[in-house]
Amino acid sequence: MMKRIIISLIILFIYSCQSSESQKNIAIVIHGGAGTILKENMTPELESAYLNKLEEAVKTGYDILNNGGSSQSAVEETIKIMEDSPLFNAGIGAALTNQATASLDASFMEGNNLDAGAIAGSKYIKNPISAAISVMKESPHVLLSSNGADDFAIEMGLDTVPNSYFITERRLRSLRKAKEDDIVSIEDNFIKDSKYGTVGCVAIDKMGNISSGTSTGGTTNKKWGRIGDVPIIGAGTYANNDCCGISTTGWGEHFMRNVVAYDIAAQIIYDRKSIEEASLNSLDKVMRTGGDGGVIGLDNKANISMEFNTAGMYRASIDKNGNLTVKIYSD
Ligand code: ASP
Repeated sequence: MMKRIIISLIILFIYSCQSSESQKNIAIVIHGGAGTILKENMTPELESAYLNKLEEAVKTGYDILNNGGSSQSAVEETIKIMEDSPLFNAGIGAALTNQATASLDASFMEGNNLDAGAIAGSKYIKNPISAAISVMKESPHVLLSSNGADDFAIEMGLDTVPNSYFITERRLRSLRKAKEDDIVSIEDNFIKDSKYGTVGCVAIDKMGNISSGTSTGGTTNKKWGRIGDVPIIGAGTYANNDCCGISTTGWGEHFMRNVVAYDIAAQIIYDRKSIEEASLNSLDKVMRTGGDGGVIGLDNKANISMEFNTAGMYRASIDKNGNLTVKIYSD
């Protein structure tokens, strides 16, 4: 009898050692866009609305990770909260095209197998991040565009809505202003902010799998079917368990030209740079071609970075020690 109890205790001890060894640190980081976000232009009500929504989003993802869920579902559910909020330039409240319509882009990538999916120029998909994940899981493709993306979402049984669902008074005002000025005026903070506001999330789960996702309405007053960096794997989104996960926000053309998300990953893999250093280097490259914006990410040790070269970036994280950070302006 005694012998049996001792053997059982030894087995239990070995099992608990193994499972705590194989359970990796979890962490999550999000952004809600970078831009000319200055405290003097913000009302206290709007500021707390942003802070509360960022906190709700990041805590939702963290709870999924903490309960043993995958980084894929943490990223999807976190981004859906921001897509469903009119505060951000994604889903409802998306920046509007020259035709006063919403045209939505999103992408998702999984770090354990480099699987990826994206949609561009969708008019009807309520949660573009879910469509990007479906493209990854249910199709042999990586990127579907415009009507094809919408048809695919309907076939997959995803929620679709009329285009008017996405359009808010705030975005209509900013489109009117952008058209009056013909181009988006650098001096006008409100309009400049309306150019940004993309949302993104990167998470690492207990299995050590990293996932990244990004979702946007793109830039205000965009024409000719303009697509930015967000649905381009390697520019707006990248994930690879060998190094890190990244999601970007900012002037998309410059993030495409500098292949920012992959550039950060490459510096970590080939140059052994830290995620922070690599992110700052890539943002310098963006600045050198005339762009600006921000990047969030985490490495495979669950170290988080949130860097930007604009006045502010809506951002939040819960690190490997469970510490919550929610911020808007530069420190
Ligand atoms: N990068 C996005 C785009 O150019 C805009 C943003 O980040 O807000 O479409």
